[in-house]
Parts: sequence; C-alpha cells; structure tokens
Amino acid sequence: MEIVEYERSLQWVGHLVCPNCQHQNIGWRSSGMSEAFPHFFCSACSNVFHRQSDHDLVYYEATPALLAQIAATLPACPCGGHFTPTAGPKCGNCHAEIPLVRDPVQHLHNPNMVVLDGACVCNDEGARYQVRIVD
Ligand SMILES: [Zn+2]
Ligand SMILES: [Zn+2]
Repeated sequence: MEIVEYERSLQWVGHLVCPNCQHQNIGWRSSGMSEAFPHFFCSACSNVFHRQSDHDLVYYEATPALLAQIAATLPACPCGGHFTPTAGPKCGNCHAEIPLVRDPVQHLHNPNMVVLDGACVCNDEGARYQVRIVD
C-alpha cells in the first residue's frame, strides 16, 4: 500500500486531543478548500472513507435523504469494522472515540478530513494510502 508522509512542521499537521485521556493524537487535516467531503470514519479504527461518487452526490446540497442513500452503500473497513456516518477517529492511547461528527448531515460538507498518524484513506477498492507523520 502507498504511504504518504507529512512532516510534523506542516500547517495541516496538528493534534487531536482525546476528551477521555487528554492524549494528543497527531494527524493530518485536509484544508477547508479541499475536496475531501464527504468522508466517513470506521466504527472500530481511525481509517477514513472517501470516494468521488459521494462527492458528486452531495456537491450542491447535503440532506438527510442523501446521507441515508450514501450510508446504505458504505462498505466494511479493512480492519473488520464498518464505515458509518457518525463514527469518529479513535484515540491512540485509550482507544476512546474522539467525537468529530456532531451533525451527520452537516458533516457531509465538512472538507476538514482528519487522518491520524497510521490511519488509512479508503475507497471502494480498499485502503488507498496510509498517512504517516514524520519529523
Ligand atoms: Zn484517549
Ligand atoms: Zn477500521
């Protein structure tokens, strides 16, 4: 699998603080100008699912009907979990879910895709690449 490395000093590398144990999870976040919406996290790990057909579907509007339509076709994650509209990434220290999705319908238009260090970006073909944060 392809590995994409981001240097720690980059503008879009930062920390996602776990509300449970306060661990600072390092990761990469796509910019507000990116096309990384919609994206969905795995129920069991920090992998993220993103595909072009969903992007085209919600480009002009985000509605509960479109969310339901996409949710029905979200696949299993390579880890054995499942991509869902409400999941968030998991803390690398205590494995608690870090809530990033407050409103799943609004989240359809959220371009700030958070990929924690070691997590994979997936589509229907499986894991496309793994993100690694390097010094
Ligand atoms: Zn934690
Ligand atoms: Zn997973």
